[in-house]
Amino acid sequence: MIALKGITKRFGEHTVLDGIDLSLERGEIIVVIGPSGTGKSTLLRCINFLEHPDAGELTVGDLHVDAARPGKDDILGLRRRTAFVFQNYALFAHKTALENIAERMIVVEGLSKNEAHARAREILERIGLADKADAYPAALSGGQQQRIGIGRAMAAKAEVILFDEPTSALDPEWVEEVLALMKQLAAEQQTMIVVTHEMQFAREVADQVVFMDGGRIVEQAPPSELFTNPKDERTRSFLRKVL
Ligand code: ADP
Ligand code: MG
Repeated sequence: MIALKGITKRFGEHTVLDGIDLSLERGEIIVVIGPSGTGKSTLLRCINFLEHPDAGELTVGDLHVDAARPGKDDILGLRRRTAFVFQNYALFAHKTALENIAERMIVVEGLSKNEAHARAREILERIGLADKADAYPAALSGGQQQRIGIGRAMAAKAEVILFDEPTSALDPEWVEEVLALMKQLAAEQQTMIVVTHEMQFAREVADQVVFMDGGRIVEQAPPSELFTNPKDERTRSFLRKVL
């Protein structure tokens, strides 16, 4: 249901993604690991055209896009079918928790404010922040802000949620509550691609772990296999540093 074929991205002379092939079934969870600067964020950003790939093909659900020559409707179509969770939450500072979650439903889906707010309240219940509906981001902990960031992605009812190091900016005390929410989503069969350094999360939740280095997928396997029996020396060397 999600397929990337030959996704290539250059910044000037620098080939950051060098022909990435990846596919996921509905409900699958892929965790992407690898050294920093290796193109993990760029890969996620190419899937919803926050970055424009130079070559390759993207399929998300019923939408198939020639990544080098997207139509205008293609980019909008990809953005509707995907949702992004950023390392730094990227909440609107001047909107409440409720408004942050409701915003996309109003702007992208065209829901009335009342409908969007009603649905946002349901999401706030699911993420355990019903009592924070009227709070502004500055009044919330980092963990709560990121749960709002995830709630906003949940509200999008996207085919896939793309997580870019969702716990990396958090104080250690807030990491678990965010991972717990992601596990809850995983249990609900939400399709996700997660870039993270949380190896325990990868072990518990991932269907497939992808190790990237130098803009390429070096190795991909279920966690039980990749963590215990990595085949490539680069994977072994990376895992020695992080495990
Ligand atoms: P990762 O997420 O794995 O740490 P990134 O995808 O952020 O890696 O970056 C991969 C490479 O692309 C890095 O060398 C980075 O400096 C470069 N890069 C990322 N974004 C840009 C940009 N907008 N312009 C130029 N170079 C970029
Ligand atoms: Mg990154």
